[in-house]
Amino acid sequence: MTASRTLPESVSPQAREFLAVAQHDHIIDGRSTASVDGSTFDTIDPSTETVLGTVAYGTAADVDLAVQAARRAFEAGSPWRRMAAADRGALLGRLADLVEAHADELADLESLDNGKPRRFARTIDVPGAIANLRYHIGSPARIQGRTVPVRGKDVFCYTTREPIGVCGQIVPWNFPLVMAVWKIAPALAAGCTVVLKPAEQTPLTALRLGQLALEAGIPPGVFNVVAGDGETGKALVAHPGVDKISFTGSTAVGRAIAERAGRDLKSVTLELGGKSPLIVMPDADLDAVVKRAFAGIYFNSGQVCSASSRLLAHESVFEQVVAGIAEKARTSVVGGAFDDDSYLGPLVSHEQHTRVAGYIESGRKSADLVAGGTIDAGRAGYFVDPTLFTTADDNAEIVREEIFGPVLVAQPFESIEEVAYRANDTEYGLAAGVFTRDLATAHKFAALLRAGSVYVNCWGLGDPAAPFGGFGASGIGREHGEEGLAAYLEPKSTFIQFS
Ligand code: NAD
Ligand code: MG
Repeated sequence: MTASRTLPESVSPQAREFLAVAQHDHIIDGRSTASVDGSTFDTIDPSTETVLGTVAYGTAADVDLAVQAARRAFEAGSPWRRMAAADRGALLGRLADLVEAHADELADLESLDNGKPRRFARTIDVPGAIANLRYHIGSPARIQGRTVPVRGKDVFCYTTREPIGVCGQIVPWNFPLVMAVWKIAPALAAGCTVVLKPAEQTPLTALRLGQLALEAGIPPGVFNVVAGDGETGKALVAHPGVDKISFTGSTAVGRAIAERAGRDLKSVTLELGGKSPLIVMPDADLDAVVKRAFAGIYFNSGQVCSASSRLLAHESVFEQVVAGIAEKARTSVVGGAFDDDSYLGPLVSHEQHTRVAGYIESGRKSADLVAGGTIDAGRAGYFVDPTLFTTADDNAEIVREEIFGPVLVAQPFESIEEVAYRANDTEYGLAAGVFTRDLATAHKFAALLRAGSVYVNCWGLGDPAAPFGGFGASGIGREHGEEGLAAYLEPKSTFIQFS
């Protein structure tokens, strides 16, 4: 392990201290725990391609220990099950306060591990995690049943909503801390217990979150973290002691998880990929379009499931919109996570870099390159310049497939009917949007577009209270809001005969 490697000067003392340990272990049953067989893996800083830390690698044996701990913590009569709803909420609030107190440390760890510019980790990731935890402070007390007027004579029927049980939660690397919190907050609010598996590219902030949860007073075994890769995730999905799987990541892995969970009849929530169309009508505010479409695709270097990766602009404004975005792309700063000017950090891994490079090659053959396209500028770090293609071909690979990198494809259209059809002609349905100043057009599109989130004159807005998820191949179920909480609850009907 190379903890001795030189970290950027501005890394906080707390993050340095966290990184100084020889090995980052799982958190199982309230304790830092090495793997049963001692195996480890390295996590990389994608800005420099150097090793950031050595992490315990979870095998099926480690997953089993964590699931057993989560089961014990879930048993009737356990401290967690006996806890008053309001107290459960208060613990989430305490965890939010601790995340806030450790904001700089967590932002530093996130930027080092994932490569995202630190100013965004500070202003978007960490505050997003805090907001989500705080939203759920009040959730436990809102888990209520109802009385049901049933047909039987002298029968009283009421419903309760009970925690679904032990939850296996698997998260990706694009917003590691935020994704972890999106999963654990509603599960814990519901009274479930959790085994969380962070992505192998970015395990650090989830492990730190697990430590902070213990410090907040969440009982041992309630929230376990097992680091590892897809094999670790597979073991979690297949474990008979797990009642529910919640996953965010690729559609391919989502399908595999759904297949396995279907066989075992486990409940699933799946947040998968997207290829989300942003439509520009001729009456739109084009300055706002350029600004928001740019951020919609290039923020987080395009590694956002709801990125506006396909732009459909009316032919009368197409050239102007493309020129505006291309100009911004050419002048935006691509750089390391700790360079204050960076807008686009590196991609998360060598693998993603190679994948995105493949799509850019494919784009060069099927479309016209307007900006970017540079893949290897000869420096360390997995950098890709913001890239913009135009094509009229709806069947081009770069038009149909999720690239998950800073690559936008722009296409012209002629009529509303045509563009609504083309925007919906995708297997995905995570997000879609329209820019127009006309209220009737806005409502028309809002009704026509088949996607879990529709944006009018904006992109990528979200809130812990607003359901988020996808139609079609973008997933099953929703996170956030009442729907997100309900995903961790089982309804129960109780009948009482009183005569
Ligand atoms: P992935 O789906 O393979 O990985 C996501 C998480 O699932 C990781 O924690 C991983 O370890 C785990 N995992 C992998 N295989 C598993 C399995 N068989 N069973 C259980 N868990 C498993 O994603 P990736 O390989 O890191 O990225 C590939 C593509 O996925 C990206 O290019 C992008 O298109 C998409 N992606 C989408 C999101 C999103 O937010 N929707 C996030 C990351 C990646
Ligand atoms: Mg890493």
